[in-house]
Amino acid sequence: MKQARTARIQSIETCGAVDGFGLRYVIFLQGCQFKCRYCHNRDTWSMAGGREKSLDDMLTEIRSYLNFYRPNRGGVTVSGGEPTLQMPFVISLFQKVREMGLTTCLDTNGCIVRYDQELEDMLEVTDLVMLDIKHMDNEQHRRLTGMTNAYTLQFARHLHSRGIPMWIRYVVVPGWTDQDSNIRALGSFVRDEIRSSVEYVDILPYHELGKYKWEQFGEKYELEDVSPPSGEEIARIRKILSEEYGLPTR
Ligand code: SF4
Repeated sequence: MKQARTARIQSIETCGAVDGFGLRYVIFLQGCQFKCRYCHNRDTWSMAGGREKSLDDMLTEIRSYLNFYRPNRGGVTVSGGEPTLQMPFVISLFQKVREMGLTTCLDTNGCIVRYDQELEDMLEVTDLVMLDIKHMDNEQHRRLTGMTNAYTLQFARHLHSRGIPMWIRYVVVPGWTDQDSNIRALGSFVRDEIRSSVEYVDILPYHELGKYKWEQFGEKYELEDVSPPSGEEIARIRKILSEEYGLPTR
């Protein structure tokens, strides 16, 4: 089994409260295949960016916070960027984290192109997948991310076939992802194809917090004129998914 003792990372949060169960050590890994127009981690895209950090250093830090992570199924989350681009590292990390009695969580865009033993080895030690679905319409998905949504939807089906719990995450970007037809397509997909593996569908409002990073790269932030959706709009979308499709939204 291919393993890795170092990772290329952007940053680490030692007390994440929104990236999986309980309190978590969250590692933001470098590299992403998507180019989401609203990306709030623009600085993670390049594999050449960030810095190297050893697995041993991370494990030492995790051990020093064990008492915080142990309650409420806390543990370690890999995020990014796209963590599956450094799969051998994720496997090595998750195996060690499991040995400490903590949970492992993968926060991913689901752009998995190869179904091989390495992927299965990673899933074997993954307790929860937080899967971003960016758009249900393939053309709109390409416009928003630069890539097809086919890999992500296929990965959702694969996780379901393996019985791995998922939290589906959907970002509402006014004028881009908030069309009723798209929300209903999401509802049908989850209800008809992957329902029993989905613990929650998280409806998240678009925010502009990462805009300054695009400016630092000297790049145009194309959603300049888009404002975050209102609380009522988010509630309306959650209601469609929960009342019409019977999905557990939040
Ligand atoms: S998948 Fe995530 S990290 Fe990658 S471009 Fe999209 S928002 Fe940014």
